[in-house]
Amino acid sequence: MNRRANTPRVVVVGAGPAGLMAAGTAAGHGADVLLLEKNAGCGQKLLLTGAGRCNITNHASRDDFLDRFAVNKKFLIPAFRHFFVEDLLEFFSTLNLSFVLEKNGKYFPQTQRATSVRDALLAYCQKQLVEIHEAEAAEDLKRQIGQWSIRTRHRTYTADAVILATGGLSYPKTGSDGAGHRLAAKLGHQVISCRPGLVPLVISQPDCARLSGISLNDVVVTLRDNKAAGSSGKISRRRGSLLFTHFGVSGPVVLTLSRWLPPDYDQPSQANSYELVIDLFPGLPRAEVEEQLLKACRRVPRRLLRTILSRDLTLPQTFASWLIELCGLKPDMAGQHLSLDGSRRMTAALKALRLPIAGTRGYEEAMITAGGISTREIDPRTMASKRYPGLYFAGEIIDVDADTGGFNLQVAFSTGYLAGRSAAGYNVKHD
Ligand SMILES: Cc1cc2nc3c(=O)[nH]c(=O)nc-3n(C[C@H](O)[C@H](O)[C@H](O)COP(=O)(O)OP(=O)(O)OC[C@H]3O[C@@H](n4cnc5c(N)ncnc54)[C@H](O)[C@@H]3O)c2cc1C
Repeated sequence: MNRRANTPRVVVVGAGPAGLMAAGTAAGHGADVLLLEKNAGCGQKLLLTGAGRCNITNHASRDDFLDRFAVNKKFLIPAFRHFFVEDLLEFFSTLNLSFVLEKNGKYFPQTQRATSVRDALLAYCQKQLVEIHEAEAAEDLKRQIGQWSIRTRHRTYTADAVILATGGLSYPKTGSDGAGHRLAAKLGHQVISCRPGLVPLVISQPDCARLSGISLNDVVVTLRDNKAAGSSGKISRRRGSLLFTHFGVSGPVVLTLSRWLPPDYDQPSQANSYELVIDLFPGLPRAEVEEQLLKACRRVPRRLLRTILSRDLTLPQTFASWLIELCGLKPDMAGQHLSLDGSRRMTAALKALRLPIAGTRGYEEAMITAGGISTREIDPRTMASKRYPGLYFAGEIIDVDADTGGFNLQVAFSTGYLAGRSAAGYNVKHD
């Protein structure tokens, strides 16, 4: 590691967005920085973000932004105060990367390519003289005689400060496999139990695979607990689009709702406890939906029910046929033969289609990890460990997770910036 006299030595573990930002910032504030990345290339997950386009942040106001976090919102306030959306956009503009704001509030690079973001971060680190060692994982971390020692397969480094930015457990093929959690837990840090977040759901509805590829663009979906006493069992509700897959459902609404499944949802005692309930006609009362269905059946009596559903009620054709069978009706029945009971069942399915949840697709397909290093043991003003001097955390390793929309990357950058600045010895507490 290059050494400049009287400068703090900082080792950053993990070169995702949080680690790259932390390393460049620490070096920019005068530290000698070594960045260790276990993969052969930095920012592997970053390259997958926003389907390769990288939804880097969101136009939401600070309050709305914070509302998109399920837990520990307050913890993020100082980090956002130091480095928020406009700072991030300004930061990248100094690296000649500009962004476009889409109608839904999401920012993407003008190039529409996540590689531009990764390359800009690498250029920043290089400019700040960060030494990057790829294909070198931190295997052990110890505090010894007032210094940190970081062991890798190749050698042991010493440092005044260490920033753990190893991510969570999701998409392990990109390198984040919980190593940072293990290193921190070994030092005595509390790790809040982890689970996949923003994850597609497996549906135990026979025949659902037939619908693979069909998307419902404006539906209201409710996550329900069947066993909840008293109330309707509603856990959370979202409006937006849903995509059927060969195993169940995905799409923005489903990913968001998946965050509200309780940690023990997959225990045997909870079997079939949770379901999604889909309202295919949000805004239209049930009676009106039934009225429209019956009217359409009367208008052209010999028209097949599945044609009525697809043509008059604008449902995808395959989905319409599937729905008819689900309601126990004949696939080729004409609208004129729809009985009162049949129309009730059909309307019930159109307004409250129930899909029992069998599980999630796990970390392999989860966009984020819920849980992580307890925020109670991190100083939100510096990202420093409250247990050890000179230990910092940044990014998804921390117990914070948000909705889709650019919120998670903003966390990586904001906490990375603050950790980098603090680790370099800059007094951020009172400025
Ligand atoms: C498919 C997908 C799409 C996404 N799209 C978006 C999006 O558009 N917008 C958004 O805001 N968020 C998105 N996210 C979430 C976002 O990617 C993460 O929140 C973000 O990458 C977290 O950054 P991080 O630096 O904390 O962790 P990571 O990006 O996971 O980086 C951690 C790094 O640490 C390295 N590492 C791990 N252990 C060690 C070790 N022992 N030694 C050395 N290195 C180690 C890993 O190899 C990895 O490179 C998406 C996630 C996925 C999976």
